[in-house]
Amino acid sequence: MISGSTRFENSLEFANRMDENDPLKAFRNRFIFPKVNGKEAIYFCGNSLGLQPKSTQSYIQRELHNWGEMAVDGHFHGEDAWYHVRKKSKPALANIVGAHEHEVVAMNNLSSNLHFLMVSFYQPTDKRYKIITEAGAFPSDMYMLETQVKFRGLDPDKVIIELLPREGEHTLRTSDIVDTIKKHGENLALVMMSGLQYYTGQLFDMESITKTAHEVGALAGFDLAHAAGNATLSLHKWGVDFATWCSYKYLNSGPGNISGIFVHENHAERPDLIRFAGWWGHDEGERFKMEKGFKPMYGADGWQLANSNVLALAAHQASLDIFEEAGIKNLRAKSEILTQYLEYLIKEVSGSSGIIEIITPKITKERGCQLSLLIHKGGKAVFDELYQEGIVGDWRHPNVIRIAPTPLYNSFLDIYKFAEILKLSLKKFAYN
Ligand SMILES: *Cc1c(COP(=O)(O)O)cnc(C)c1O
Repeated sequence: MISGSTRFENSLEFANRMDENDPLKAFRNRFIFPKVNGKEAIYFCGNSLGLQPKSTQSYIQRELHNWGEMAVDGHFHGEDAWYHVRKKSKPALANIVGAHEHEVVAMNNLSSNLHFLMVSFYQPTDKRYKIITEAGAFPSDMYMLETQVKFRGLDPDKVIIELLPREGEHTLRTSDIVDTIKKHGENLALVMMSGLQYYTGQLFDMESITKTAHEVGALAGFDLAHAAGNATLSLHKWGVDFATWCSYKYLNSGPGNISGIFVHENHAERPDLIRFAGWWGHDEGERFKMEKGFKPMYGADGWQLANSNVLALAAHQASLDIFEEAGIKNLRAKSEILTQYLEYLIKEVSGSSGIIEIITPKITKERGCQLSLLIHKGGKAVFDELYQEGIVGDWRHPNVIRIAPTPLYNSFLDIYKFAEILKLSLKKFAYN
């Protein structure tokens, strides 16, 4: 078994030994790896698009078959009846985000869900109208906040408070976030930020943030695009009001695939909450009466709009079944060590040159699997060289390489190989 006290070594033997002793090693073989320059890639880009499980095709085929065989009858007949299809993904989603099943549902896309949730959970008044978010948030999230504020007839510059790292620092201190929430106290309507920052890889203390928001009478919501399937989450216990995520990053469900939402039980039975409704959020027993008067379903289901995307959910389920089998706690345990090994080897190969600065927090509980490497010299050339050698990471302007080893399909050997190639590219492009 691998453990947190493992002493790392910069050797092929060590990496191989770690893989042999990895209880999750067999899962790697469940995925299809892309090729770069004709060779199987070393894939560290699960933070952008997770790999395809080999089982995905058959899950989709099954629904294509049902559609062909039954057509419209498929909505209500057979064990896969589409009318109830959303229920299948609930147990796994609840485990992944730490929630009750009635608090989660798969629907729409992430950016759309951010908007729909804001309609309900951002209710500005004359006194309480401010929103706290992190500076440098993912563009969709910035556009969403800006336009939601305008939609309410308010001025984004007066409403949105951006959290900035201190001078000379790359990430936010929890104490500074907490102080900012307290400072805006009675004017604060909402904290809406990412759970895990896409650029720096910082995992925020969502529990403390939520607790402080509630203390001042505000709500807290999180975008978990980079946290779902990566970090250990306990949304219910932390009292988070709402959250949403996508399924194509760490959740390996395919490009652009369906998103999921979380709405805390505290809001499960609040027909008073304003929402942009659709028939699929209406009381399921009466849905086909096709009558006037929206009656929301209990819990997260009450935020659904449209009938479920069955093919999308099939691909999603193929991956969720793998998560259930592997267990989210086991995945996180391996992930912490993989990333620690990555950090150790980066330091080994870049030595005291100072050319690579890891801007992701050093403390394991303040990060997910991703490390963001700020390359002080020759960054793009190093990145391009890594790619030519078969390493798929990603480049973020102006000088950051993000490397995200995932516990389902990355090995310690992958990390060892990466470090060897990195060492050579640094020699070529950064040290001259
Ligand atoms: C990936 C990502 C998105 C993408 O939104 P889509 O609606 O799925 O295109 C939005 N926000 C964050 C924080 C992301 O990481």
